[in-house]
Amino acid sequence: MIGRVLIAALAGCAAFAQTPGELLKEPPVRAALDAVRRNEPATIDSQVKICEIPAPPFHEEERGKELKRLFEQAGLKDVRIDRAGNVIGVRPGKAARPNLVFSAHLDTVFPEGANVKVTRQGSVLKGPGIGDDCRGLAVMLGVIRALNEAHIETPGTITFVADVGEEGLGDLRGMKQLFHETLKGQIDKFVSVDGTGFGITTLGVGSNRYKVTFKGPGGHSYGAFGMANPIQAMGRAIAKIDAFEVPSQPKTTFNVGRVGGGTSVNAIPFEAWMEVDMRSADPSALKTLDEKFQAALKQAVDEENKRWNNRRPVTVSAELVGVRPAGQTPNDSAIVQTAVAVSRALRLQDTLAEGSTDSNVPMNMGIPAITVGGGGVGAGAHSLNESFDTTDSWKGTQRALLLAIALAR
Ligand SMILES: [Zn+2]
Repeated sequence: MIGRVLIAALAGCAAFAQTPGELLKEPPVRAALDAVRRNEPATIDSQVKICEIPAPPFHEEERGKELKRLFEQAGLKDVRIDRAGNVIGVRPGKAARPNLVFSAHLDTVFPEGANVKVTRQGSVLKGPGIGDDCRGLAVMLGVIRALNEAHIETPGTITFVADVGEEGLGDLRGMKQLFHETLKGQIDKFVSVDGTGFGITTLGVGSNRYKVTFKGPGGHSYGAFGMANPIQAMGRAIAKIDAFEVPSQPKTTFNVGRVGGGTSVNAIPFEAWMEVDMRSADPSALKTLDEKFQAALKQAVDEENKRWNNRRPVTVSAELVGVRPAGQTPNDSAIVQTAVAVSRALRLQDTLAEGSTDSNVPMNMGIPAITVGGGGVGAGAHSLNESFDTTDSWKGTQRALLLAIALAR
């Protein structure tokens, strides 16, 4: 995940039939929380083992197979791998609904061949993906184990999912498959455990990403002078994009991130391209920005062609290379209030955050969803030097456990 902290203090929580504070007094819940703490060394061991199985973008199969084996070993029912590669296992409750999906992502940002060996120095683990999201996968396993050891039967059902395609151009394809096909209409609440710390992500920043290509006939810079120029057309487009005014609440952004094209200093290019990223947590702000962007491309090409009297004109095409839906789970919703109450019952610092995570997909559909950190202290996410400090990391597993128990009802 990529995110940032929004605010550090939260409003008081609403009344519940059974508050997380009350749940905490129930002997089976206490037993499960104790099991989590006792089992944390094993949870950390699985975090390391899972992380040493490579899971580059679009190639999560090997790590997925291991999660399938671990789900089966933990006694989950109906364990399967769906068409996208999501690993799914069910822990039935007294009733089929509500169905809480509890997930963590399999994929990393690291390419095939990256050294995924994990090293330990004291309490610190080092290895690519160790926090994001091997921590989430391990926490999920720790939660299942504790629920089993304490013989907890939840009123509703928990479906555990180790999903694919969370990062980068994975484009949330695991979540899109899960919500639109595999478990379509069967998910009532959603929690993903992503990364480290104790943040609660409630704002899902969406993005549209394009590769834009400008084309023209091209020719000699001197001999063919007088024809429209794809790079110059692109320059006009970039100037227009640069002048966009965007809302600051919610934060809405644009960026021309890469450009290329042309063959020689003395040739009118036949092609130019650029990559553009636009983001917002507000779906309508993102749509408005996208429309301005499309209009800017068209205007830029029209102006360039007009400038050269429409002789051998330039054309433009924009290919959508990434879409992450935007959304938000309101701070006063039951799921956010429960998560806050759970953190407080365990005396943990609660922080609300925004980010681009698996929760974007359910948030966009209006399904209650949050993404939470898996505890411990992480550093260097998305870098080969990523590290995870395991000091008191059991607190993160405990919070995930109490959250699962409190929401599966
Ligand atoms: Zn992540």
